[in-house]
Parts: sequence; structure tokens; C-alpha cells
Amino acid sequence: MEMNKVVVAGAGGFIGGHLVSALSKKKNHLIRAVDIKPLNEWYQVFPDTENLVLDLREKENCYQAVKGFNEVYNLAADMGGMGFIETHKAACMISVLINTHLLMAAKDMGVDRYFYSSSACVYNGEKQTDPDNPGLKESDAYPALAEDGYGWEKLFSERMCRHFREDYGLTTRVARFHNVYGPFGTYEGGREKAPAAICRKVIEAQLSGKHEIVIWGDGLQTRSFMYIDDCIKGIFDIMTSRIEEPINLGSSEMVSINALTDIVENIAGIKLQRKYDLDAPKGVRGRNSDNALIKEYLNWEPSISLREGMKQTYNWIYSRMTAKQA
Ligand code: NAD
Repeated sequence: MEMNKVVVAGAGGFIGGHLVSALSKKKNHLIRAVDIKPLNEWYQVFPDTENLVLDLREKENCYQAVKGFNEVYNLAADMGGMGFIETHKAACMISVLINTHLLMAAKDMGVDRYFYSSSACVYNGEKQTDPDNPGLKESDAYPALAEDGYGWEKLFSERMCRHFREDYGLTTRVARFHNVYGPFGTYEGGREKAPAAICRKVIEAQLSGKHEIVIWGDGLQTRSFMYIDDCIKGIFDIMTSRIEEPINLGSSEMVSINALTDIVENIAGIKLQRKYDLDAPKGVRGRNSDNALIKEYLNWEPSISLREGMKQTYNWIYSRMTAKQA
């Protein structure tokens, strides 16, 4: 049987690592995993995979990454949570080179299918001022008023995928991820997102006995969070689908940051004194995923509950932090 030869760009990262893990369990798949980080910093490494350390902002590295392979998943980007993207706008925008050069290489090297990981940060900020956000529809990205820096890069790169499809016939698929969380991801250092950051803070309080937690903003801002297993299923289903336009891939279980903190405290069996840092980066006021389109196309939407996913995430972060402490 013919081998499916798959490149995962950003394979040393959180979602890329899980994607390689899932691909390595499939039959007849040859995997090339690529990331800029040294191999010892990748979250997950698999022995049967070809692992390349390359800076994919460089055009020739993209040609090397794609050569001889027929599918590309582009998850590589310089990114992080709100604390990172609000203070590193230029660095976020430079990721445009990664997608641009990978698309050029994919077109020139005859790649069959190309997946791009976009983000809910492409959505117009004026449609996210209400914590009771009814859910962002795909059409809410226009008129464009994306998250400054990171969101504009994602929106531009989405359109580049569209035009490579229309003008050059490269099959491109684009998913707009809404906050993804789970084990084997960043939980400290400044790039972490709310679910991992709150787990870390609760565990720090548990381990230190200082029963306090600092929450960014007033805790009333709302988001939805998608567990990594739902994300990986969605990536595969969108990649093999006929969905040509960017589509939401996110949970529609919207919660406030206070409610997310309640869940983590409940898992940890602890109650903490909350302090609110109103000057910290907080992003938009309310964001949720409208899943009508994905349900229409795939008859499916992410459904792993926040409680269940956070339990897995908390346990993984707890084991890492206690191992470090020991
Ligand atoms: P991550 O930071 O864990 O992974 C991204 C990986 O890309 C990192 O390992 C990084 O080293 C690599 N990378 C950065 N610059 C590179 C370069 N020049 N060359 C090669 N590799 C490079 O992030 P993630 O959470 O796994 O996100 C994966 C993708 O999904 C990103 O494109 C991100 O923007 C998108 N996304 C993620 C979320 C989320 O909640 N995690 C939400 C929306 C969109």
C-alpha cells in the first residue's frame, strides 16, 4: 500500500507534538517532524519519526522540509498566551514568513494537501465586547479588526492559503482554533495560556501553603477551551474534508475565568483567596465558538467537557511540578 508522507511543522510544540503522536499510530504513514527548537526542548519526540531542527522562516529550509512529502500540517508559529502576544507583536507577525515559504514550497514540490492552523484571534474585536458572547461565526472575521499583531498575521496567512488554492490549485484547509489545552504544553515561562497558568498557580498555592491566587483581569471575561484530543480529531477531519473556507475548531462550552478557576480549585480540593490584577493583559471581554458550520459539514463538534479535560491537564502539570521540586 502507498505510504502517506506527512510533514508536521511546529512538531516540537504542544499541538504539533500531539499531532505527531496521533499520526504515528496510523498505518502507512511516514512522518517528518520539524521545529526550530533543539530536540531536547520538544514536548514529545517519537523514535520512528524523522525529526528535523529547522528555522522555517527561511525559504530554503521550507523546501528541505517539504521535499518528497505529500501532506503538510503547518502548526509552527512564534506564539503564546495573552501575556506574550500583547507584548511581542512584531515577533508574532514574522511567522508570516513560515506560512508563506511553506506554501511556496508546497506548491513547487507538488504537495497534495496543506493544513494551516489559524486562530480565533482573527475575529473582529468589536464583536467580542460582551461576556455573553453568543458565539463567533466564521463571517465575523470581516470587516477585519483582528487582534493586533498575532491576529492580523493569522488572517493574512489564511487568505494566502485561499489564494494558493484558487490560483495554483493547491488543496488548502484552514481551521480557526479556539484556546486549546491539555498535557505536554507550556505552563510556565510567559507563553502559557489561561488553563495551564491557572493549574500552575493553584498547584503553587497547594505546594507552598500560601492559599492565594492572582487572576488576570476581573475574572468575568469569558472564553471557551478545547481539549487537545478534540483538536486533533478536528484537524484530521477538516484536513480530509471538502471544507475550503476557514472554519471554527473550538468548544462552545463558554466559561468565565472565575468559573475556570473554580473547576481547577475543585479538582485540587482547595479554595484560594483571589486577587485580581486589573492591569494584566486580559484580551477581549467575551469569546465563544459558533459551531453551526462544523456541525453542518462534519456532523460533529468538540465535546470533551472542561472538567474532564482540566483534570487530565492538572494531573500532568502537577506531576511535572512535583518532579521538578523533588
Ligand atoms: P506551541 O508554541 O507549543 O508550538 C508552536 C511551535 O512552532 C513551537 O514548538 C515553536 O518552536 C515552533 N516554531 C516557532 N517558530 C518556528 C520557526 N521559525 N521554524 C520552525 N518552528 C517554529 O504552540 P501550539 O499551542 O502548539 O500552537 C500550534 C499552532 O496553533 C500555532 O500556529 C498557533 O498559533 C495555533 N493556535 C494555537 C492555539 C492554542 O490555544 N494553543 C489557539 C489558536 C491557534
